[in-house]
Amino acid sequence: MSELLSLSHIRAGYGESTVLQDLSITVREGEVVCMIGANGAGKTTTTRVLTGLLPAWAGHVSFAGERIDHVSAHRRVDLGIALAPEGRQVFPDLTVRENLLLGSYSPRARELRSRTLGEVFQIFPKLEARLTQRAGLMSGGEQQMLAIGRALMARPKLLVLDEPSLGLAPKIIGDVYQAVVKTASQGVSILFVEQNVHAALSIAHRGYVLANGEITLEGSAAELRGSRLVQESFLAPRRDRNPAASDATHQVQSGGAHG
Ligand code: ATP
Repeated sequence: MSELLSLSHIRAGYGESTVLQDLSITVREGEVVCMIGANGAGKTTTTRVLTGLLPAWAGHVSFAGERIDHVSAHRRVDLGIALAPEGRQVFPDLTVRENLLLGSYSPRARELRSRTLGEVFQIFPKLEARLTQRAGLMSGGEQQMLAIGRALMARPKLLVLDEPSLGLAPKIIGDVYQAVVKTASQGVSILFVEQNVHAALSIAHRGYVLANGEITLEGSAAELRGSRLVQESFLAPRRDRNPAASDATHQVQSGGAHG
């Protein structure tokens, strides 16, 4: 599998405050990669840097073999990077159809709009049934599906999802995740950030653990599930968790098949 995205030695933050320190991650073509970490670890900041919404202070970003550090956010969408942001951010007063069409504003995506709409409806049949409904009247799960559908309207090579399970009931998380797997099976690479570690590792091929803006562990989903750090920091019942474990730096051998 060839490399699609690489963030290499990234340092970034806000004002005087450094959030990401020397962060390096990769996503290969066809991969589903998760980044897990607690509140405030820097997951959203990573998605902002890779989509061009926040400049990196050091390091570089490459996509499909090209350096894109100085490429604007909207040009990155043209190149094939689409984001379904944290909190969905659908336009509540617009219809489902209008929200979806907003995702296909680039000339390349606009030309193929009807075809892409059909593909999105195959993944999310509910959206087709609700086309004329105002997005603000939909449930949280339906809005999440709409946010992903809107990102897919850009015909991305890489779909970036920021906490797709946030605030959703377990059954609905299952539906959203199934749709993510279906999207991946159609050749779209996926990078998603999550606090729901159980759910994330159930569909990812590989993952990274982020703590205080640094990668503290990386490996296949099976390796991460089996690691003490992940078990103690994220998978153990809340009262048994060891917060200090998330600061330790561990290295699990990377790669391998989905476990
Ligand atoms: P969460 O799941 O809570 O969103 P996260 O891992 O996505 O957590 P980030 O949102 O990337 O974490 O935040 C990392 C740090 O950067 C936090 O300390 C946060 O307060 C800070 N931060 C995030 N956005 C901004 C901003 N726009 N301005 C200043 N500081 C910010």
